[in-house]
Order: sequence, then C-alpha cells, then structure tokens
Amino acid sequence: MKTITCRQLGGPCDLQHRGETGDEVIQAQDKHLKEMEAAGDAAHQPARDDMKARWLHPKRSLGWYRDTKRAFDELPED
Ligand SMILES: [Zn+2]
Repeated sequence: MKTITCRQLGGPCDLQHRGETGDEVIQAQDKHLKEMEAAGDAAHQPARDDMKARWLHPKRSLGWYRDTKRAFDELPED
C-alpha cells in the first residue's frame, strides 16, 4: 500500500489517497476532484478541468498517465 496526495496528482490540497496501483489512486483523485467541484471548491477547479480534458483526449494525455504511474511506482511502500 502506498500513499499519494492530491497535490502530488496536480491538485491543491494535501488529502491522501492510498492504493496499490497508480490507476487506483488516479481514480480516487478523479472522484475527489468531482466531489470538490460539486461542493463548489474553486481551488480544485483547474485540476478538475485538467482531469476532464485528459478523459476527452486520452492519447494526448498518455504522457501524464505514464509519468504519474511512474511517480507512484517510485514511492516507498508504507
Ligand atoms: Zn484535493
């Protein structure tokens, strides 16, 4: 199990996501960003818009996924 923060995933806060894989924490961050948008949190809006753009342009966004998963793989187990 590893821990990564909202900030490490491009967001503005220090909420921690725990997971076994990069995909798992990316999904958790996506959910968190949706919830913050629904709550009207302006600080998370740019990160939410970036994430939306990634779903719309998956090919263009491959680099981000690869870099994020690599960064997650390099985190220490906790
Ligand atoms: Zn956050």
